[in-house]
Formats: sequence, C-alpha cells, structure tokens
Amino acid sequence: MKLKVLGAAGEVTGSNYLVQAGNSSVLIDCGLHQGRDEERKNREPFQFNPSDINAVLLTHAHIDHSGRIPLLYRQGFKGKVKSTLPTSDLVEVLWKDSAHLMSEEAKWRSRKNARKNLPPVEPLFTDTDVEKAVQYLDATSYDDVIEVAPGVRARFRDAGHILGSAVLELFLNEEGQEIKLVFSGDLGPNYPVMGRNPAFIEDADYVVIESTYGDRVHKTNEQTREEFRQVMGKALKDRSRVMIPTFVVDRAQRIFYELMLMQEEGLLRDNVPIYFDSPMGVKATEIYNEYPALFSSEVQSHIRKGSNPFSPEHLNFVQGVEESRAINEVKHAIILAGSGMCNGGRIVHHMKHGIWDKNNHLIVVGYQARGTLGRRIVEGAKTARIAGEEVSVRAQIHTINGFSAHADRNDLLKWASNFKSSPSFFITHGEEKSSKALAELFEDKGIQAYIPVVNQEFNLVPERELPVKDEKIVPVAPSEKENELNVILSDISILAENLRLKKHEFEDTEKLKALLRSSKVLLETVDNQVSSKK
Ligand code: ZN
Repeated sequence: MKLKVLGAAGEVTGSNYLVQAGNSSVLIDCGLHQGRDEERKNREPFQFNPSDINAVLLTHAHIDHSGRIPLLYRQGFKGKVKSTLPTSDLVEVLWKDSAHLMSEEAKWRSRKNARKNLPPVEPLFTDTDVEKAVQYLDATSYDDVIEVAPGVRARFRDAGHILGSAVLELFLNEEGQEIKLVFSGDLGPNYPVMGRNPAFIEDADYVVIESTYGDRVHKTNEQTREEFRQVMGKALKDRSRVMIPTFVVDRAQRIFYELMLMQEEGLLRDNVPIYFDSPMGVKATEIYNEYPALFSSEVQSHIRKGSNPFSPEHLNFVQGVEESRAINEVKHAIILAGSGMCNGGRIVHHMKHGIWDKNNHLIVVGYQARGTLGRRIVEGAKTARIAGEEVSVRAQIHTINGFSAHADRNDLLKWASNFKSSPSFFITHGEEKSSKALAELFEDKGIQAYIPVVNQEFNLVPERELPVKDEKIVPVAPSEKENELNVILSDISILAENLRLKKHEFEDTEKLKALLRSSKVLLETVDNQVSSKK
C-alpha cells in the first residue's frame, strides 16, 4: 500500500494525494495551485494516468482542493467524485465560476498575444469539462462507511472548516493486511462560530495533517469580533469605501453574519449599503441556507428566532458587470468580492478604483498565499500592479486573522493528541516554516511527524510488521537528497520560464542582463563539474 504526496507540500494550495491498495488507485483531492507559479503548476501534467484512477475522494469544495478535477475528466478519468452533499452542491458552483474566469482570462491573454504575433492561450478547462465532471459527483452522508474501490473503504467525518468539509478516514486492505489512513483535510478551529467542531478520531496507522497555521495561535472568537467591530467602526466614521476581499464560500457568509450581528446591536447605522459582488457567491449563500442543521448552536439559535444569519439588511447581490461597475460611483459602502487573495475576480477592480485613496479601507479577512496581490499588500507594498495598472496603495489596510476557518497550532495539537494509537503524521498543506514549527511541536510531545516534499512516495506498513517504530515512515523513491535536488532544479527552470515570459519588461536593462549572464555562468560551472566527475 502506498501514499504519494502530489501537492500541498511546502505550500497551502494544490492539495492532491494518490493512495494505492492492491490494484486500486484513489485520489484524495485534486486542487488548483494558487499564488506563485500557479499558471505553470496547474498546467503541469499529472504524475499518473487519469484513466487508471478508480475514484476521487474530495474533502471539501474549496478550489485549492477541487479545482483540477474537471481537468482529470478532460484527460480520461471516468470514475466518481465522492464527497458530502453540501460539498457536491458547492463544488459545482465553484467549477462553473472557475471555467468562466479561465475562459475570460484566456481570451484576454490571447488578444494580448495576437498583438505580439504569439499563439492564443487555451483555458485550463472549459464549461464542457465542468458539465461532464458534474455528472460524476456522488454524494455521501457524513459518518457512513462507503466502498470506494476494491480494497478501499472510506468515511467522511465533519471537519468543521466550511459547509460540507470532511476529515477522511480511509480503510485500506491489501492481501489481508489492513491500514487505516486519515486525512485531516482542512481542519476547522475548536469552538467555531459558524460550523461544528471537527470530529476527533482515536485510531489510525497514519495521518496526513494540514499545517496552514502550524506556527500561529489565533485570537479568540471574542477578540476577533471586537477587532472587526473596531475596524468597521473607524471605517464607517470615515464614511468611506470598505473593501473586503473574501473567499466567497464560507468567509463571505461569516462576514455577513458578523454584519448582521452588528446591525442587531445598532453598531451599523446610516443604512450603509453592503454589496456582495460575486454571482458565484450569491449561489454559495443559497446553498449555505439549505443546510441549517450543519451550523453551530450560535448560528442555529438565530435561525430558530427567524432571522437569516447570512443576510444582513441593505445587502445587495451584484450579478452583472454593469451593476458591478456602478458601485464605483458609491462613495460610502461595504464591498465584498472574490477572489480571497486578490489574484483575480471582481475585487481587483474595486481595489484599482479605491486603494489609492487614503480615506478608504481594505480589510483582509483571510489567508494570503505567497505571490498573490493580497500578500504583497499585507506585507506593506506602497504601490501595486492592479488589473494592468500601477496603483499607489494609500488606503488603510487592516488584517484580521481570527476569522480563519482553519485550526491554529493549539487546535492542531489537540486534534492530533486525540489519537490513541500513536499514528505517524505526515505534515502537509503549509508553508515551510508553519510545517516545521508544527513538526517540532509534535516531536516535543512525542508524536512522530514527517514533512514530505512534493512527489514523494511512501510505503504504508501495518504496525505489527515493524521492528522499530521509527521506521514507520519509509519513503519509496526518490530519496530525500534526490528530491531536494529536484526541487532546486525545478525552481530554476520555473524562474527561467517566468523571466522568459516577462522578458519584454527588462529587455533594455543592462544590469539585469548582467545578473542573468552570471547566473548562466554559475549553472555552467555546475554542469562542468558534473561532467568531469563522470
Ligand atoms: Zn479549505
């Protein structure tokens, strides 16, 4: 039995794992990469033949977990995508939106290319691929054990991250040997405001755990609520535009809930209009309203009283592009739009029109991956290239981390400590420093942890076969050394490719050219030394 880590290693996006038992091959998630090098990474060929895969098990709808699934169908996959019912509802909306954005982007880039006599750009996948993928969605209930493929059974447990999110228990069987492998998926915090607590599991041989916030402790729900109210209070006093880039599934609904509470308590006056500028987000909110039983007691108590927790007063759902543009004329408003990391979507246009003005406010309420516009702004960029234009960043920027739908360092430790069977942990889905910090914490507590690199493969061995516990994690091949080398070489080719794409921007800069020449000499030196070793 084998586990291969194909994504979300050393980063938080692009989740993708291959699990093999006997002749069965199952994928856990198949997500898009976001942020640095996303274009190249998303177009990279799969490390397996899609037609050899029996099924995909999807932990939750977020696009960094689900976004490459339509591409699997385009390349010959014919199996089912198993997930919870809310996930299958949400993912359909997210895929359609992605296909639309990709086709818009491809058209725009093709026009740009045509002017330079370059070939047109194809979108990663199209509406047609999505329509096909949707037909293979197969919903399952939380807590039922389901047959996935010969030798592979699975059970979805509530992960408390977003609506429909799941921790996945996999029961593998090969020649009479059994292994239990658990995937945390994206794990919600303990005591979540919106969802339910993540399911605690007691037994496993191996656990793959996320580490988005492996190095951080979130503020409490009360502190976060207070922080948001203070920032909103100031912004409202300025009677300015408040821009909130947000993931339109879950985070947007959470912000609506907070705004509704503020209205109930008289903290949001003047009938300030709230715009939700995301056709996809509107649909996602409708889906949220369909599953009241999956929310926290706090949210349920509002539903019981007859209020809609995700619909504050003066909320306008924006559909068309014209309607979206019209918001530019509104001086005092709260605007929510995707994408959550500002690397696309309508928020980019609102930022272009509003971020130069020091009276305006930008409230960042979610994770910003390396290489995204959101991350650059949070890190203090004074100017930014937004929708093709260099814009100065003078608006007041606020970051509120406590809204995270992710477990923090303490939550992760608590969840991991609940296993009674001393499983070995693979720490993934985090930037290097978060994963390392979590691994150190685990080791301090006597929990065996290993941080895999991308494309690393492991033999899964039943506990009783092992002479020494420390040998439980056995990478197959290539070795760690080879992998390190692969990563360096791959980084170099990515950088070179990126520079080639941007070369018109520095064609006339002698200094940069000189730097590139030196890099070339360094590479040649390595090559010469390798050749002389032969
Ligand atoms: Zn997620």
